[in-house]
Amino acid sequence: MSLHALFPKLSLPLRGLQLLRSRTLTAPNRPYGAVAQARSVLETELESIRVAGTWKGERVITSKQGAHISVDGSSADILNFCANNYLGLSSHPEVIQAGIEALQKYGAGLSSVRFICGTQDLHKKLEQKLAQFHEREDCILYASCFDANAGLFEVLLGPEDAVLSDELNHASIIDGIRLCRAKRLRYKHMDLNDLEDKLKESQSSRLRLVVTDGVFSMDGDVAPLVGICDLAEQYGALVFIDECHATGFLGIRGRGTDELLGVMDRVHIVNSTLGKALGGAAGGYTVGPKPLIDLLRQRSRPYLFSNSLPPPVVGSATRAVELLLASNEIAQSMAAKTMRFRNGMTQAGFTIAGAAHPICPVMLGDARLASLMADDMLKLGVYVIGFSYPVVPKGKARIRVQISAAHTDSDIDRTVDAFIQTGRKHGVIS
Ligand code: PLP
Repeated sequence: MSLHALFPKLSLPLRGLQLLRSRTLTAPNRPYGAVAQARSVLETELESIRVAGTWKGERVITSKQGAHISVDGSSADILNFCANNYLGLSSHPEVIQAGIEALQKYGAGLSSVRFICGTQDLHKKLEQKLAQFHEREDCILYASCFDANAGLFEVLLGPEDAVLSDELNHASIIDGIRLCRAKRLRYKHMDLNDLEDKLKESQSSRLRLVVTDGVFSMDGDVAPLVGICDLAEQYGALVFIDECHATGFLGIRGRGTDELLGVMDRVHIVNSTLGKALGGAAGGYTVGPKPLIDLLRQRSRPYLFSNSLPPPVVGSATRAVELLLASNEIAQSMAAKTMRFRNGMTQAGFTIAGAAHPICPVMLGDARLASLMADDMLKLGVYVIGFSYPVVPKGKARIRVQISAAHTDSDIDRTVDAFIQTGRKHGVIS
């Protein structure tokens, strides 16, 4: 039956209608071809990751985060040695309670960004407490420290400025710097001579900003901040640090690397996270001079164009900061536990990178070995993770162990014993 017979009053000319029908029938072929092609490209890429032994699987936890957890597929109580839960606050009863209270009083979320209708008094209170904790003028919250790093440099630095960045800085710093139009100079990892060369090279720039992780997360090594501040002052530069792996537990009051090294008043801008030691939920922030924070509120894209932090997250983080402001007891408990693990492992013949930081990388070299050993550790009831390229350089695979204030001495001893057993099995130690 013809179309005319079916729809005699159709105003669309028949030829047009036929054309439309033929398009409808053939159109799916083209996108289908593109999808098939994309699938093949993606599968090839995925296979190359599997072949290289650098595949990152995700184990499923079925309990709260903590020193002892339940893992899907394992009936035993598992010791967790790979969380950034440095102070054990992720499941601290007061931190949980504060989250519940904030949820009840302020709701699940703001359905808005901060400058529209997404600012509650509890956001302002947390910003004030974080500024107080870091002894800086003001603070701005972000959804993550990744966002804080992505949103800072573009606002502060223009084409007439220069940024001098440690070559091993966190990926989010690298991405944030890519977004800004300043002259970029990368100095060798923690190399003050190279930094000085780069400072000389950038003397004609308007602003110069030295950018470093306070603690480098893959090696647990601490930036030479005294030397960096000396050079910055000599050459008229500003200093920025990322304190994700220091806030809450480094320094006598847990204020961070700048407190540990006595340079709190010489570091100008600090970015850090609420997603590690400070309750472990999510969120990041910048603390620093008030005009900088004011400008970030006006211009910083991840702040302007992303939702406000959810009230329960803010409530929990605020309680975590209050606990640390009230007492340095939790922060202080880390050092002895870290040394117990490091000494036990070194005596057994393992190589542990870094110095006294609770990040204790067990150096293994080979990516597959790191992954197999981590699997065997889980069979012995200890959850650790192998890190390999591209997270760490090729040939420098490791198991990154992280100590928490929530671990007991016996947790640590059990883990060292499991490493000894696994290390012998794989010929890493004799
Ligand atoms: N900076 C460093 C040094 C980190 O280790 C991380 C997290 O892994 C981040 C920034 C990002 O923090 P967040 O999880 O809050 O986005």
